[in-house]
Amino acid sequence: MIKEIQLRVMPFEAANEQKLRRIVSRETSVGEERISAVRILRRSIDARRRAVAFNLRLRVFIDEEPTDELFEPITYPDVSGRPQAVVVGAGPAGLFAALRLIELGIRPIVLERGKNVHDRKRDIALISREHHVDAESNYCFGEGGAGAFSDGKLFTRSKKRGSVDKILRVLCQHGASTSILIDAHPHIGTDKLPRVIEHIRGQIIASGGEVRFGTRVDRLLFREGKVCGVATAGGDEVLGPVILATGHSARDVYRYLFENNVVLEPKGIAMGVRLEHPQQLIDQIQYHNPAGRGKYLPAAEYSFVTQAEGRGVYSFCMCPGGFVVPSASGAEQVVVNGMSPSTRGSRWANSAMVVEIRPEDCGLMLKENESPYAPSSVLGLMGLQEHLERLAWRHGGQTQVAPAQRMEDFVQGSISKSLPETSYTPGVVSSDLNDWLPEFIASRLRQGFQTFGKQARGFLTNEALMIAVETRTSSPVRIPRDPLSLHHLEVEGLYPCGEGAGYAGGIVSAAMDGERCAEAVANKVLN
Ligand SMILES: Cc1cc2nc3c(=O)[nH]c(=O)nc-3n(C[C@H](O)[C@H](O)[C@H](O)COP(=O)(O)OP(=O)(O)OC[C@H]3O[C@@H](n4cnc5c(N)ncnc54)[C@H](O)[C@@H]3O)c2cc1C
Repeated sequence: MIKEIQLRVMPFEAANEQKLRRIVSRETSVGEERISAVRILRRSIDARRRAVAFNLRLRVFIDEEPTDELFEPITYPDVSGRPQAVVVGAGPAGLFAALRLIELGIRPIVLERGKNVHDRKRDIALISREHHVDAESNYCFGEGGAGAFSDGKLFTRSKKRGSVDKILRVLCQHGASTSILIDAHPHIGTDKLPRVIEHIRGQIIASGGEVRFGTRVDRLLFREGKVCGVATAGGDEVLGPVILATGHSARDVYRYLFENNVVLEPKGIAMGVRLEHPQQLIDQIQYHNPAGRGKYLPAAEYSFVTQAEGRGVYSFCMCPGGFVVPSASGAEQVVVNGMSPSTRGSRWANSAMVVEIRPEDCGLMLKENESPYAPSSVLGLMGLQEHLERLAWRHGGQTQVAPAQRMEDFVQGSISKSLPETSYTPGVVSSDLNDWLPEFIASRLRQGFQTFGKQARGFLTNEALMIAVETRTSSPVRIPRDPLSLHHLEVEGLYPCGEGAGYAGGIVSAAMDGERCAEAVANKVLN
């Protein structure tokens, strides 16, 4: 007999199979000797009460052998010789589009401007060590896309846009730990992601698809008003319907589309800073325990949201036990983001602390001479991102050294005389962020921090460091699609996809959007 039950247990009980079995026996009134296995199906932490507990959904095998299959692997067919489609970008959207195309019998040709994920590691190390940002290989560009060196958080709210479970199962099939199928807030970790990405590439190639690195797409090819392929910087032409999954940092792609009158729409974004606390402090606050998280609890997470002067102020992309990283993708920019290893074991907790910005707000922050794009233009917010990233570079070390300020100092308007130790390896320099961040952002951050400090005592502290600037939270434009066929609203043959198109925000939602675009292409090509 197989039984599913729900239990609330203490962290030390959740960590010990024997203890768990004993509790299950007690709860089900079934003798321990009859329970052949207990499998955790779902695990979440309940930290609302003083005694932090785990909520578990368990499958109990009574008087029968356990079946261990958590998922059924997909069999990918050989697509050599089948009709082909072009996938531009090997981020989560592009890679999952390619896998789905294969499932549906179409041969994907994936074109990626950056390097393979292994070689990319060297360029990423050089950013911290030598402050050199390779414009084609960095935290944003290269195999695995922006998600490759990240926390690998797989939590998404966009559950209606596809099957989250399927994305998680495909990740497991390619080497991710099956714990991601269980945890309420799953994550993979930057140390484990590259192998998963390599296995996905291996699958695409083994099925007859192609993945080409160092291949930047510079132009779309048109025939009779429809997109029929792409031209690369190296002069090659690759034919087929085009899934454009180039992410939110491919500003050259937005510029190209804008200059070639491909319709784009303005889209709101959020900008601010990375905030870094000692992880121990966050553990103490979130687990209500001055001793911290103890032996059995993971590094604590947090999430804050409030309204200030009519705009949202919120934490985003929180990385417990993580590192703040330099994620610029070009010269004279400082941009920060966060990542964590699978253990989430560093001494720091960081998250973006950002203010919602609508297209109509752009004119309040950007003067005409500060950007090539008028604040009211569709690329206005992209111009604002570029402007703030340049300001951060100027107020930092004019290298990847970032401008930073202690949190309470910022709220009180005083310059930090010293800065705490940070995980941001290129280094930080004291800067009065109130002085140069647009007041639109700074004043809302100050108000937000005061609110968060009241909601969680100890959170607003000078032990926390604000590192500027966090600008790449999502895409500053949308490349609009026809809602049914998913091709561009006005241009057939072009399938804007993933975060860069404004249809996703995060690894899982980008992957789901990749699958949807692949299905739309297959529908067109095969029918
Ligand atoms: C440091 C960091 C940490 C993050 N942490 C998380 C996290 O923990 N969880 C989460 O859900 N999200 C996280 N994100 C966000 C997440 O990575 C993105 O939402 C996601 O990667 C978007 O997927 P995408 O495929 O749409 O675009 P991208 O991942 O941006 O991929 C686009 C790809 O297209 C390529 N490309 C661009 N232009 C061209 C061109 N002209 N020709 C050929 N190729 C091109 C790029 O090189 C890139 O590989 C993080 C981002 C960063 C930078």
